Amino acid sequence: LVNRMFHPEDTIVDVNGIKIGGKKIVVMAGPCAVESKEQIERIAGEVLEAGADMLRGGAYKPRTSPYAFQGMMTEGIMALASAREKTGLPVVTELMSADKIDEFIENVDIIQIGARNMQNFDLLKAVGKTDKPVLLKRGLANTIEEWIMAAEYIMSEGNKNVIFCERGIRTFEKYTRNTLDLSVIQIIKERTHLPIVIDPSHATGDWKLVESASLAAIAAGADGLIIEVHDDPTHAFSDGAQSLKPEKFASLINKGRAIAEVV
Ligand code: PEP
Ligand code: MN
Repeated sequence: LVNRMFHPEDTIVDVNGIKIGGKKIVVMAGPCAVESKEQIERIAGEVLEAGADMLRGGAYKPRTSPYAFQGMMTEGIMALASAREKTGLPVVTELMSADKIDEFIENVDIIQIGARNMQNFDLLKAVGKTDKPVLLKRGLANTIEEWIMAAEYIMSEGNKNVIFCERGIRTFEKYTRNTLDLSVIQIIKERTHLPIVIDPSHATGDWKLVESASLAAIAAGADGLIIEVHDDPTHAFSDGAQSLKPEKFASLINKGRAIAEVV
């Protein structure tokens, strides 16, 4: 179902009228985690002002340590819903467990499957039974073939609205948090008909590297970006080091849209 051979036309995923996979790039932005209702509403306003198309923010956080902040959970989802209502920005957020799917169907516009759950097949099947757009992140150490098969799991249950998201993979390199694999953009486009967006924040782990990675991804044909933006990165509950301030994000978006015009 994912294979381009049996579906030559590009799939365009429509999220409340915003088209992912069309001519324009779609930019999703916001903090790693929802930290309070006030914080997500404020940053939603800032990324809207900067030119973002959608709001990101994790309410359920897959943290390495069980003692680290785990997210605001249902309260975080409700805070996102309120930020959406105030700004009109559609919301993308991570679902970690199928038992929370109803609150996502009700309040969320794109369901994110995180890197750590890329091969959680029961979760893939559960989102496959809905018709919500799914942002499928590539696993930390997964091959392109495994990633495509994960998308196949979702589509085989009936959901056609799958968006790939490259967020860097684990290599021996330690200067960056992960290694951004830009070759996947062309490969995914050749092998599949689905859109692909790039997450330069988790791919690099360093806000200083986010702009160049974003612009390179757009030049390579990505359909969009998902970027971590925080207005007080040093006090962020998670991923502050890779979060752009709104001003820096605004200038990135302008450059990115200019490049998108010519690719
Ligand atoms: C995130 O988007 O904040 C996140 C946890 O991403 P990933 O699953 O790519 O690590
Ligand atoms: Mn993060």
